[in-house]
Amino acid sequence: ASYLDSVPLGPPDAILGLAQNFRECAAAEKVNLVVGAYRDGEGNPFVLPSVREAESRLLARGETKEYAPITGSPSFVQRALAFAYGEECEALTSGRIVGVQTLSGTGACRIAGEFFARFLPKGTTIYVSDPTWGNHIPIMELSGLTVKRYRYLDRSTNSLDFDGYMSDIEQAPAGSIFLIHACAHNPTGVDPTTDQWDSISKAILAKGHHVLMDCAYQGFASGDAEFDAGAIRRFVADGHSMILAQSFAKNFGLYGERVGTLSVLTASKEEAARVLSQLKLIIRPMYSSPPIHGALIVNEVLGDEKLRSQYYDECAGMAERILQMRALLKSELIKAGSTHQWDHITDQIGMFAFTGMSADMCDALTKDYKIFLTRDGRVSMAGINHANVAYIAKAIHAVTD
Ligand code: PLP
Repeated sequence: ASYLDSVPLGPPDAILGLAQNFRECAAAEKVNLVVGAYRDGEGNPFVLPSVREAESRLLARGETKEYAPITGSPSFVQRALAFAYGEECEALTSGRIVGVQTLSGTGACRIAGEFFARFLPKGTTIYVSDPTWGNHIPIMELSGLTVKRYRYLDRSTNSLDFDGYMSDIEQAPAGSIFLIHACAHNPTGVDPTTDQWDSISKAILAKGHHVLMDCAYQGFASGDAEFDAGAIRRFVADGHSMILAQSFAKNFGLYGERVGTLSVLTASKEEAARVLSQLKLIIRPMYSSPPIHGALIVNEVLGDEKLRSQYYDECAGMAERILQMRALLKSELIKAGSTHQWDHITDQIGMFAFTGMSADMCDALTKDYKIFLTRDGRVSMAGINHANVAYIAKAIHAVTD
């Protein structure tokens, strides 16, 4: 007998399991609305031409495969942080923001969780939005934090439960952590307005809460990376105790390259140095150092004026296609005869639309129409295109009528 005899079979990942079911489905009309990755107008994965150009430059230059430092490529980190915080950010230029390269947004969240667990008082709770990206919860629990939820989505209107959110900030014990999506909230696509951000920021400050800002869609949401960084920059200006997790998976289409950063806003250069030393101690025994290829690509794109401006256009193109599909899905639903209120589809932003469909409705879409989606009614807008939108709208109308 082996100890492996008693290893139980774990459940499949909720989202990746559905993606597998989609692959195994033989129906010609099948549609994948699960995937959290951009697809072009023909439904195919998309590599940005600016990314291709950067790769060919790296190849031509003969980049080596040497190890990166524990904290990753310094020049990548510097450019990535300027992209998020803004070139002019005083905290950045004065050296008060300390950053490291991470294994995309997931890795950044994991290190943030570990850092909080080590240096905040034992028993500190992290509040995540209800609902949130599913992985946030196990990431934070495995880091040793207590996870609770704050109200976020008003399920009767599929919009922000602003009063619930504010009251949960108020009721959380002072010095808790709030995990906030910087833009394009996943899975709801519901973001606070500028005025609401103001109030949220003030309320969090008043209670002395800490913030983990998770930024997985900068530029991908509105098409304007500066606009999408609004919440991050406001929180820095307001003087929060904040850690930022930054992913380049969606906005650069670098999903499998695992490229991101984690950064901590500190009070002084001296504090920044202490924090950095501890981040290194967390990273070294986990994975030694991050992979280099994705960081080289982002560094090349952001560091070259021409490539950078080409990149901005390409990223805006992805956002634009998604916005068009939102408008088209809504109009096709109306055309199909649906009399429900679908304004939330165009009010929401980012990769996903949170339709408000029940689990039973989602099951019927999959069973009867071979349309695959998560059972919370979340639809990946990236999976929608001119060829399938009418079919999807008719099917949604049929199961929601
Ligand atoms: N955070 C949020 C809110 C996300 O939606 C995602 C991806 O779906 C991530 C983090 C992490 O993605 P990655 O690890 O690929 O950067």
